[in-house]
Amino acid sequence: MAFTLPALPYAHDALEPHIDTTTMQIHHGKHHQAYVDNLNKAVAGTPNESKTLEELVKHAGTISPAVRNNGGGHWNHNFFWESLAPKAGGAPTGNLATDIDNSFGSFDAFKEKMNAAGTTRFGSGWAWLLIKDGKLEVSSTPNQDNPLMDVAEVKGTPLLGIDVWEHAYYLKYQNRRPEYLTAFWNVVNWPKVAERYEAAAK
Ligand code: MN
Repeated sequence: MAFTLPALPYAHDALEPHIDTTTMQIHHGKHHQAYVDNLNKAVAGTPNESKTLEELVKHAGTISPAVRNNGGGHWNHNFFWESLAPKAGGAPTGNLATDIDNSFGSFDAFKEKMNAAGTTRFGSGWAWLLIKDGKLEVSSTPNQDNPLMDVAEVKGTPLLGIDVWEHAYYLKYQNRRPEYLTAFWNVVNWPKVAERYEAAAK
């Protein structure tokens, strides 16, 4: 069964002014679509055709560079769209908020750590909040790798990912990645992140 591009869970202009409409149209309709198309090409006619996206991603390092890049691209973007929401942002609540405070000192300190992970990732990649062995951690990955992959330096269950590829911000922010990172916090879907946290912490 071929992989398909999921619809965005909100309108293209729903994240304005933090993430602009044109960026969302191209990011979802062109970039994400290309990962889906290239993943389908990479698995066509192979035993990997019948595997789930998660299975492919977990074994990405041993399958092929095409599956690693495009399977990662497809998984990461599915995850990214669901991590965002209009009229969102603010601070998390409940167990996740407590764990963030205990793990990083404060919510602000956590954001600084994520922003640093995103800013210092040279070239293209992602910054992540993840759970590893029951503990919250911040990491970053190159290209379309993610913490589920066998090749990840820091492996765990991703809770939140920030896409720091230029295609995620260049039209509005040009070279100012830190400005995009600041704006990103206004569109984080914390209830969704908390739901992932509760599922992973069980
Ligand atoms: Mn992207």
